Amino acid sequence: MTILVTGGAGFIGSAFIRKVIGKDNLKIINVDKLTYSGNLNNLQSAKDNKNYTFYEGDICDKDFLEEIFTAYKPSSVIHFAAESHVDNSIQTPVNFMNSNFMGTFHLLEAVKKYLNQNDNMQKTFKFIHISTDEVYGALELDDEPFTEQSQILPNSPYSASKAGSNHLARAYQKTFNIPIIITNCSNNYGPYQHHEKLIPRIISCALKGIKLPIYGKGEQIRDWIHVDDHIEAINTVLDLGKIGESYNIGADNEIRNIDLVREICNILDTKILDLKEKYDIQCSSFHELISFVEDRLGHDFRYAIKSHKIKQELGWQSTRSMHEGLKETIEWYLNNTRWLDI
Ligand code: NAD
Repeated sequence: MTILVTGGAGFIGSAFIRKVIGKDNLKIINVDKLTYSGNLNNLQSAKDNKNYTFYEGDICDKDFLEEIFTAYKPSSVIHFAAESHVDNSIQTPVNFMNSNFMGTFHLLEAVKKYLNQNDNMQKTFKFIHISTDEVYGALELDDEPFTEQSQILPNSPYSASKAGSNHLARAYQKTFNIPIIITNCSNNYGPYQHHEKLIPRIISCALKGIKLPIYGKGEQIRDWIHVDDHIEAINTVLDLGKIGESYNIGADNEIRNIDLVREICNILDTKILDLKEKYDIQCSSFHELISFVEDRLGHDFRYAIKSHKIKQELGWQSTRSMHEGLKETIEWYLNNTRWLDI
């Protein structure tokens, strides 16, 4: 079995590759443009495996994609590649439209051509389109969490570009009968995440002894899942998911941004004496560094996701507690500071 992974040098794609590489009869072809957020150091443990091949390339490059499909004849595609940071989508939306929407379009076209030329693949082939809960827009405090039936109501250029790619994936399944499944996952955390994202950014600032910036009053709520739980859900969908369906993935960990940052401070405070010996930290508790900055434009108030469908129909269940997962993640960053901005 050969899986073509797009965006495998990023946070979630690399977690997928690290998890599955080494399985019997499994070959991984990783296609990644290596934007600022792609990092081949995320794949040290895979890079020398004879069943792993990396290509630096852009999913917007149609000829390159066709060559990859012809050369490797993958049995599945897991499509992670995307611009993924909402703040950047407000500054430079065009990159998001290109990679997230047009990139998905070119990839789907390449798959369509490949399946037309390889009739025998049609029955077993699977294309997993990795998407986000952000396509559903924002919730109020007393709204029910998003289900697969929730309206697609994106509010940022990032979520709009992902919503567009979801629609494309659905349309290519309906129109061309391409075996596609869509997953919509909540906020991921864990090791190897780019330091622009909230958790590694807060740890980076803490170790520099500078203010820990929080948008607005920190009242926005996010629903967090450990990246390894997400990877197990993707593997479940790959094995058991039904073509043409979409599955929400979440771990029921809703928390306000301010409370998450306080939790990070609590964990770091238990190590503050050791940290003071290594870093220029003047405060006596990291809580002193919390500072509120001007809110982000169009900042969605709350995301929350109901994952009953994948639990009931496919038997997946998240297994990591947020508190333990966060402690382990912080420990990992403290031991792997090159993934921080310090
Ligand atoms: P990331 O930014 O860490 O990684 C994205 C990867 O895609 C990078 O390696 C980058 O180089 C590559 N890439 C970008 N544009 C490309 C292009 N045109 N061609 C080839 N490669 C390209 O992002 P992530 O957090 O790992 O997210 C992966 C996927 O999961 C994305 O589709 C994202 O929308 C989705 N997702 C992320 C989260 C989250 O919390 N991080 C939650 C739900 C869904």
